[in-house]
Order: sequence, then C-alpha cells, then structure tokens
Amino acid sequence: MECPKEKTNLANCNCTYEPCVRKGKCCDCVTYHRQKGQLPACYFPSEAEKTYNRSISYFLELNR
Ligand code: SF4
Repeated sequence: MECPKEKTNLANCNCTYEPCVRKGKCCDCVTYHRQKGQLPACYFPSEAEKTYNRSISYFLELNR
C-alpha cells in the first residue's frame, strides 16, 4: 500500500541505513523496531543513529 505521507516522512527521516525498504513508511518502521524491542532512527541524534544501535538501553544511555 502506498503511503500518502511518504515524501514528507522522507524529508524528516534521519536514517542512514540506505537499503531499508521501510524508509518513509513510518508505520512499518515503528512496527519493525517495536517488534525487536527497539526504537526507530529518528529517536537518535545523527552520530548515534549511524551506529545502527536502535536499542532502548542505548537511547536511555544517551538521554541520562
Ligand atoms: S529506522 Fe530502521 S526501519 Fe526505519 S528506515 Fe531506518 S533502518 Fe529502516
């Protein structure tokens, strides 16, 4: 299904993992990471995002 907000979402997406098919499809992105006990890239600042560590513990560590 096409997402009507995909272009807007992509403009606000900081994810650098280029091969991902969920980029711009925030519903799929959130669902994917939630199922893995993680958070999407947009919860992390740029340098942290590039580590691809999407764990909640890493998020908490960065936001102590
Ligand atoms: S945060 Fe994860 S699911 Fe979302 S676009 Fe990046 S790699 Fe894909």
